[in-house]
Amino acid sequence: MSLTTELIHSIPVDEATGAISVPIYQTTTFVHSSPGVHQGYDYTRSGNPTRKVLEDLIAKAEKGATGIAFASGMAAVDAVLKLLKAGDHVIAGNDIYGGTYRLLTTIFKNFGITTTFVDLQNEQEILLAIKPNTRLVWVETPTNPSLKIVDIRKVAAITKAHHILLCVDNTFATPVAQRPIELGADLVVHSATKYIGGHSDVISGLVVTATRELGEQVLFVQNASGAVLSPIESWLLIRGLETLELRFKQHSYNAQRIAEFLSEESWVKEVYYPGLKVHDGHKVAAGQQKYFGGIVSFRLHDDSFEAAKKFTTSTKLFKLAESLGGIKSLVAHPATMTHASIPKERHADFGITDGLLRLSVGLEDAEDLIADLKQASEKSIHQPVAAQHASYALQTS
Ligand SMILES: *Cc1c(COP(=O)(O)O)cnc(C)c1O
Repeated sequence: MSLTTELIHSIPVDEATGAISVPIYQTTTFVHSSPGVHQGYDYTRSGNPTRKVLEDLIAKAEKGATGIAFASGMAAVDAVLKLLKAGDHVIAGNDIYGGTYRLLTTIFKNFGITTTFVDLQNEQEILLAIKPNTRLVWVETPTNPSLKIVDIRKVAAITKAHHILLCVDNTFATPVAQRPIELGADLVVHSATKYIGGHSDVISGLVVTATRELGEQVLFVQNASGAVLSPIESWLLIRGLETLELRFKQHSYNAQRIAEFLSEESWVKEVYYPGLKVHDGHKVAAGQQKYFGGIVSFRLHDDSFEAAKKFTTSTKLFKLAESLGGIKSLVAHPATMTHASIPKERHADFGITDGLLRLSVGLEDAEDLIADLKQASEKSIHQPVAAQHASYALQTS
C-alpha cells in the first residue's frame, strides 16, 4: 500500500460510536476505577487519546517507532536537545533554522552544551568537528532560505561509525517526500506548523524516534517539561496528514513551474530550487526526496533592500509574511524577517543578502502565481527611469 492509503486508513474509526472522524478528547483528567487502575490515560499532559492517534500516525508516516506531539516546533527541538547533558557537544549545520540556532547558542550554551556549526555538505568539515564529547549531529535539509541539500545517508554513515545521535529537522520536506529514519537518522523533528498543519492555523511540533527506547526518553522529557499539543490542535494535524501528500505534490509542482519561470527572467540574478537541474544539490535531492518541495528562493538582479521592498510590496497573491507551508502563497525577506535573529555578520553563511527573497509557494493556480510575480516585477523593477524620478520627486516634496 502507498503511504497515503496507509495513512488515511490508519486513522481509527471510533469504536464506541462509529464516528469516522477522530473524537476530540477535550479533557484534562480520566476517571480511575480504583486507585492506580485506569484505561491507559490518567492526565492529558502524560497522554491523551486524540494526541495518541496523531502520534501513531506521524510515527507510521516517518517509518519510526514512536511519535510525540508538541506545542510548537521549537518545543520539539527543545525536547530533543534535552536528551543531552552539561559537557556534551553538538555539531549543527551552519544555516539551520534561526530559532534552533538561538536555542543552541543561548539557553543550551548556558547549560554547558556547546555547538560547532559546519557546512554539512562537506564530510571533511563534519569529521574535523567531532570531539570525544560529541553526542548529536543536527541536520536540516533542504535548508532555509538557500535550499542547500545535505546528503542524509552520508552524514548517517559518519554518526553511526562514531556512535553519535543524528537528528534531522524534516520540516521542509515532510515524510511524504523524505524519510530520514530510512536513511539512517535516529530522530526526526518537525515544525508541524508548516506543511503538516498546512493551513497556517496551528503552531505545533512533532518528534519521531527510530527506536522505542529513544521514544521513551523523549516522552519522559515531554512529560517532565510539559510542552504538549492540545487535543483540538492534535485533531487539526490529523486532518492535515490526511491531505499532506495531495497538497505537497501540488506545492512542489507549482514551485517547479515558478523556479523555471524565474530562471528565465532578466531581473532575477539567481534561483535556488532543488528541482532545477542546475541546482548544486539536485542529484542528492533526487536520491532522497520524492518531491522537491514548495520553497523557492531567488536573488534580485538589483541586490538592494530598496528593490526587495518594492517587489515584496507589489505582489498581490504572494502575501508578505513569515512562515511557510500553508495554502496561501507567501513572500518573505529573510534579511529583515525570518533571519533577523541571526547576527548580520553570519548572513553570508546563509546566502542572505538584501535582495534575497523566499517564496512559500501555495496551492493557487501556478499560472496565476507566475502572473503575479510578473506584474510585481513590472511595477517595481522595470519602472521606467522617468517615472522613478517622478515618484522620487513626489516623495521628497
Ligand atoms: C518554523 C521552523 C521551526 C520552528 O517551529 P515553530 O513551530 O515555529 O516553533 C523549526 N525548524 C524549521 C526548519 C522551521 O521552519
